[in-house]
Amino acid sequence: MEKREQLYEGKAKKVFATDDPEKLIVSYKDDATAFNGEKKGTIHGKGVINNRMSNHLMRRLEKEGVPTHYVEELSGTDTVVKKVNIVPLEVIIRNISAGSFAKRYGVEEGIVFDAPTIEFSYKNDDLGDPLINSYHALALKLATREEIETIKTYAFKVNDLLKGFMKEIGIDLVDFKLEFGRLSDGTIVLADEISPDTCRLWDEKTHEKLDKDRFRRDLGGVEDAYQEVMKRLMGE
Ligand code: ADP
Ligand code: UDP
Repeated sequence: MEKREQLYEGKAKKVFATDDPEKLIVSYKDDATAFNGEKKGTIHGKGVINNRMSNHLMRRLEKEGVPTHYVEELSGTDTVVKKVNIVPLEVIIRNISAGSFAKRYGVEEGIVFDAPTIEFSYKNDDLGDPLINSYHALALKLATREEIETIKTYAFKVNDLLKGFMKEIGIDLVDFKLEFGRLSDGTIVLADEISPDTCRLWDEKTHEKLDKDRFRRDLGGVEDAYQEVMKRLMGE
């Protein structure tokens, strides 16, 4: 399958049309941004790592019954995916306090929750992705009640599975962001990516951060952290 015209260039990926109207090619970049695009940089090798890791995880999730957009890996950076109409919600699941949760509620990072939390942000860069609840999402017609229920069910299932995959490699899954979309027949599937850009991953013993917080907080060793997660997960 070959790339046709570029449809979109985002902060981390480019999206191309293909000769199949139901399929797209996403191409992962080394560009990194944080704080709604205010901080910009390059994480060398990130495109390849995020593409390969996201595909690996989506294949495993699919096997466990979570439908995803994944079709075929074309190269280090490029993947064929099913074209979806993205539900404009960032779905965030948390197992341990960190980031904006810790800031918003005035608690320290690292508190292990008794049960995972879910929250939604309205995916809208101009508004800075504001936090919303499911009633707001319904009022704004971002998704139907049934779609929101399906998304919640899949998001918690992804959490259970992903937590297990990470625990096997000595990593605590702190939190992560998912995006879902609708296929042409309306079926909800997991889309976008799952990578150290979109998850907080802490080494279970040292609590070392192995994710984009190394970039956000100028901790150094960003490339090494991404490489380390890929090595543990995929043996390379
Ligand atoms: P952003 O738009 O936040 O800068 P990216 O650089 O990752 O993010 O761009 C990828 C874009 O492609 C995102 O807007 C994402 O919602 C969208 N996307 C992800 N998977 C699919 C898919 N299967 N079909 C259509 N769009 C998708
Ligand atoms: N996240 C993401 N994209 C976003 C916002 C958040 O991938 O636009 C991920 C982030 O990497 C973290 C989780 O979602 O794993 C929760 O992020 P949080 O709400 O704490 O926001 P942040 O601290 O990134 O501002």
